[in-house]
Amino acid sequence: MNGERDYSLLRRRMVERLMREGVIKSKKVEKAFLTVPREEFVWPDIKSLAYEDTPLPLGITGQTISAPHMVAIMLEEFDLKSGLRILEIGTGSGYNAALMAEIVRPTGKDSINQGHVITIERVPELIKFSKDNFDRTGYSDRIDVVLGDGTLGYPERSKKMLYDRIMVTAAAPQIPYYLKAQLKIDGIILAPVGNTFMQTLVKSIKLEGGKMKIEEICGCIFVSLIGEDGFRF
Ligand code: SAM
Repeated sequence: MNGERDYSLLRRRMVERLMREGVIKSKKVEKAFLTVPREEFVWPDIKSLAYEDTPLPLGITGQTISAPHMVAIMLEEFDLKSGLRILEIGTGSGYNAALMAEIVRPTGKDSINQGHVITIERVPELIKFSKDNFDRTGYSDRIDVVLGDGTLGYPERSKKMLYDRIMVTAAAPQIPYYLKAQLKIDGIILAPVGNTFMQTLVKSIKLEGGKMKIEEICGCIFVSLIGEDGFRF
């Protein structure tokens, strides 16, 4: 190992711990966590902390890569399967987007354009960081990174086909209006909703006729969603 850490061993141990704690419940989430190398998504100077179950700062951007247990809770609630089209608001490091891309990876040869993630980020430095991370880890063909205000969604793509799932990975004052409009019937929006200090993870399922069925999952703490239909500082 030449002094390098055995990241695959640390990764396996983290997954075993999250399974023991009952946070990772399904085979598909377990497999994604075992496959995506978190050490390639943390800021390079703190790579050695990659498998601590904690959020970590993304350089001096003031943003964070979320704690693995929080990411796992969200993925388990998101009910992903091969072929789904996902919109993520808050790319950050790109780690969560890579995990989702891993789970929705198409299995059949005729679903070549399905199983895709679009992820939106407002901090230009993190657009470059996440794109580099996707290039290095081989996810660039399954993930599109967009610079912009994710509270408006990404109607450029939803005009052709609505999204199956929308995940917001920053604290929102409410579920942004535009996201509901860009979601399919039976689709899920998952978002931390509350104030800038603490939130509740809310799962919102779009019913026939457009009404949303709301379920509260757990308490959580995220950095703020800043934008037109988010917090305005
Ligand atoms: N999912 C990320 C990961 O896997 O590393 C962690 C996301 S971090 C907790 C929240 C991110 O949301 C930050 O990078 C922040 O810049 C971004 N953000 C905040 N408001 C946003 C907005 N209106 N549109 C897009 N991104 C936003």
